[in-house]
Amino acid sequence: MLIFDTTLRDGEQTPGVSLTGEEKLQLARQLARLGVDVIEAGFPAASRGDLEAVRRIALEVEGPRICALARAREEDIRAAWEAVRYAEKPRIHVFIATSRIHLEHKLRMTREEVLARTREMVALASSLCQDVEFSPEDASRTEPGFLYEILEAAIEAGASTVNIPDTVGYALPEEFASLIRGIRKNVPGIERATISVHCHDDLGLAVANSLAGVAAGARQVECTVNGLGERAGNAALEEIVMALLVRRDLLGLSCGVKTENIARTSRMVSTITGVPVPPNKAIVGANAFAHESGVHQDGVLKERRTYEIIDPKTIGLAESKLVLGKLSGRHALKERLQGLGWRLSEEELGRVFARFKELAEKKEVTEADLEAIVADELYRPPEIYHLEQVQVVCGDRGIPTATVRLRGPSGEELVDADHGTGPVDAVYRAINRIVGESPKLIEFSIKAITGGLDAIGEVTITVEAPELAGPNGRPRHFSGQGASTDIVVASAKAYLNALNKLLAAKGGNP
Ligand SMILES: [Zn+2]
Repeated sequence: MLIFDTTLRDGEQTPGVSLTGEEKLQLARQLARLGVDVIEAGFPAASRGDLEAVRRIALEVEGPRICALARAREEDIRAAWEAVRYAEKPRIHVFIATSRIHLEHKLRMTREEVLARTREMVALASSLCQDVEFSPEDASRTEPGFLYEILEAAIEAGASTVNIPDTVGYALPEEFASLIRGIRKNVPGIERATISVHCHDDLGLAVANSLAGVAAGARQVECTVNGLGERAGNAALEEIVMALLVRRDLLGLSCGVKTENIARTSRMVSTITGVPVPPNKAIVGANAFAHESGVHQDGVLKERRTYEIIDPKTIGLAESKLVLGKLSGRHALKERLQGLGWRLSEEELGRVFARFKELAEKKEVTEADLEAIVADELYRPPEIYHLEQVQVVCGDRGIPTATVRLRGPSGEELVDADHGTGPVDAVYRAINRIVGESPKLIEFSIKAITGGLDAIGEVTITVEAPELAGPNGRPRHFSGQGASTDIVVASAKAYLNALNKLLAAKGGNP
């Protein structure tokens, strides 16, 4: 059973998410460590930056197949090949829409033209790369007879994987399974290809549909970590993998994913993309293993399996363990971080080490604390404004007032103060006065990284810039994160982090 991860391609299409080449490389390394079979690294024809990011992954990441997406156009296929050709195991993934609604309104092509284009472009891809995957986009809404015909043509032209996407998340599980059975029965040459499924979660059925497809004979599942992706997202990798493992009695299939890396990978994806994981998310949500009711707690204490179908250790959720003490050196920290999947430059390591020392004076440092520090230090945009100091006065009698000191673009010191409805509001207003921006706050969440009163708090916020329209015409969103043992400081850092991204996007400063 092959796990095809598309976090870096479909997942990156999550509204508000945009990753740098460096971030993609970090994630690709972690996906390799997780043990996925294929990494879809990007869509090289989209931009030069995307092509470069895919190329770096192809050159530097070992283990999984590295795949690049291409429309059924010569320039796309050549760009995809340019990006993946130096991978150990390259793959080109060619797609074209096949449903009547897409043909009429999007492509403005006839079926004959689509069929001819598919033959020609899959053949071109096969002449460049041994491993070619073909997807008829919107397959689940394509008339089956035409779907069979186009799959046959793609296999004849050299596709060794045929992927069946439920592009708009429209199918129901039994219906999707019967589509896969129909393909196996009616497509000449299908035994020479691997059938893949790619399901979206618009009706909350992406994982159910994928598993139905697998039970009907698909042997590759396309999915993303945390279920990221367009609209409601894709099938969640961790749910697919754990369903295969927990219900192996029924499905009888296994995959190469090292489940003990799941929790860590999920956290890394959430950190780097800035998309928080909902607490009730299956497998990786903060509450996925929390038992609240007395009856359940009692049962689990007597015998874990009474109410738990997965041992949290299986996904790498050991009790957040103490990893380092205040006497640990830089080398020990570096090794520990590598074990967690982070590779830092000496300069970055220096910054993380300084923060670690600071924290180790106050408390025991756990893996989760370290991850919060790395995220805080590394995933910042080029800093236009840097937070030097924040001071608030609040309480039930006074007016919450904040004084903020920032370092500006040319190193100048900037100080201002304001009041607000609460300490965080006051801090944000003071920052707005200095920076001269006042974006709309869309989301604000605080999460305690570790339990206890000395926990590091991590704040994630999203702001909206009405004057900056994204490619879809809607106002752009910018997310920011900040971590500190003081939540007001964490909030200030997160806000400044998002503002720096916003300012960079406006192009006012480098
Ligand atoms: Zn998709």
